[in-house]
Amino acid sequence: MNDGAHDHDAAVQRVARWLAESRSAVAFTGAGISTESGIPDFRSPSGIWAQTKPVYFDEFVSSAEARNEYWRQKAAMWREFSGARPNTGHNILARWEASGRLRGVITQNIDELHQQAGSQHVLEVHGTARHVVCLECGTRYDTERITRQYERLGAAPTCDRCGGMLKHATVSFGQSLPQEVIEESTRWARESDLFFAIGSSLVVYPAASIPEIAARSGSRLVIINRDPTPLDDRASVVIRQSIGEVLERIDALLPDEPAPEAR
Ligand code: ZN
Repeated sequence: MNDGAHDHDAAVQRVARWLAESRSAVAFTGAGISTESGIPDFRSPSGIWAQTKPVYFDEFVSSAEARNEYWRQKAAMWREFSGARPNTGHNILARWEASGRLRGVITQNIDELHQQAGSQHVLEVHGTARHVVCLECGTRYDTERITRQYERLGAAPTCDRCGGMLKHATVSFGQSLPQEVIEESTRWARESDLFFAIGSSLVVYPAASIPEIAARSGSRLVIINRDPTPLDDRASVVIRQSIGEVLERIDALLPDEPAPEAR
């Protein structure tokens, strides 16, 4: 009879061995890694956006009323997560990158917790909510500062420099994904020999096509997610447990970090 705990140990050991041998490992992360930092999964059915109608990009640019509603929602969201800090999962991925085990992180998250943990190579396929961008001149601002400005004015803020519309530097509904980020992510996926898909339901396209490309290119796909995903049958290993705990256990099984000059 199969012992579930034993299977799980075997899977973790196998992944640790693959990572130790890997020449080009990549991590792809979704909301699940950040819920362990207390950031709500905004897209989940119980998320705060379940009852909130998102503002689509074309409404945003064509209506002052839509922009005010957008900023009302974003200010509430910002207050929910601006204080969140990286957790074990983020920290381990940053460490693996620093020691040359991981090429970098492709993330669907907009919270910059990977960067805060110390990851240097982060591809943000949905942008970031920690910055605000002017749609006219491209000037970027700190979100905290602009959120305060919104809260003072009670109306959508505008660019200091040119008076243009200000929006979070995220990909809004109805807005296309940043092409160069997608191309770079696709390249990482194709060139990878080990690809972690962590905390993502793998249902939001086109972002979810990136792990699919890795699997198709012959990379070992390791899925760590609480719930089943549509790519589970393409994966070499699927682990449905707490992300921080699983990564910690893989990390503990790795051989000593290679000296930088040996790489
Ligand atoms: Zn501007």
